[in-house]
Amino acid sequence: MSQKVRFKISRFNPEKDKKSYFKEYELAVQPWESVLESLISLRNNVDASLSFRQSCKAGICGSCAIRINGRAKLACKTSVHDEISKFGEIKIEPLGNLPVLKDLVVDMETFYDEMKDTNPWIEAKKNSGKLIEEHRISPKDADKIEKSSECIWCAACFSDCPSRESNKKYLGPAAYVLSHRYIFDVRDGKKKERLKKLVDKQIWACAHCERSTENCPMDIEPQEIISKLREESIKEGLIHNDGARHARTFEKSVKKYGGLSEAWLPVGTFGFIRVIKELPMAIKLFFKGKLPPFFMKKIKNHEEISQLERNVNRNNL
Ligand code: SF4
Repeated sequence: MSQKVRFKISRFNPEKDKKSYFKEYELAVQPWESVLESLISLRNNVDASLSFRQSCKAGICGSCAIRINGRAKLACKTSVHDEISKFGEIKIEPLGNLPVLKDLVVDMETFYDEMKDTNPWIEAKKNSGKLIEEHRISPKDADKIEKSSECIWCAACFSDCPSRESNKKYLGPAAYVLSHRYIFDVRDGKKKERLKKLVDKQIWACAHCERSTENCPMDIEPQEIISKLREESIKEGLIHNDGARHARTFEKSVKKYGGLSEAWLPVGTFGFIRVIKELPMAIKLFFKGKLPPFFMKKIKNHEEISQLERNVNRNNL
């Protein structure tokens, strides 16, 4: 049986509007409908001026990605019924972190440019100066890149990424996912160069918010992929940067004390000279009683933490 549902849709026509606004619609919706089916019905029967993108209707092309009740999702894979049960209405906005062209249509140019900037093709290994012309890949090696090969370039991760919002040099999760697909491809010969480029392109600026992993319609887990790439960059010797120094200082502190020495973390990350410049801030923190202690004792059961750390490293977890 159909149900009346309230849709609040962001509208913007660059020829008439200075800024976007929400327009409300009420529509009779069948319980099995997707948000995309409702949008098509709205456009066909209620308001022909509504603009949005769509193509395959099957979660493959990625073109119908929009923000639904505050989160970027594929409209074709989102059930109206589920959204109504959680939020009572359906609020629809265009993807974030990209300029809006009209209503729910964004300009994807920046996103595509940054994806292309990762050199998304295999740069084959050379064998005694000769290019390897044929290189079969084992199922085990193919498994390593299976997930990251499934990206459909929908930009649902990019849209809600707070690191990208505050730092335009940070590429955004999808470009790191795409890089992973080539970095871990055994046929590629540019692993270190690719990792170096990612370090230069701010991969250590990821804030671990997990939004990309929650949003990804392909269950790729971009957040975990970013962590794996950072780890690989350290293994490849790319350690002279703030991110790697931060991670290594953190690790040393846990090994030594069983916990994090917050006072030494900035020193290990930025070095004494850069930290000295922040002395006025440290003095303020001291007088407010917020400066963490410089000398830390080993925690009780420190050996258990050390054992855990050894297990993680031995099993490469
Ligand atoms: S990583 Fe997932 S959310 Fe991001 S573009 Fe690829 S498919 Fe979309």
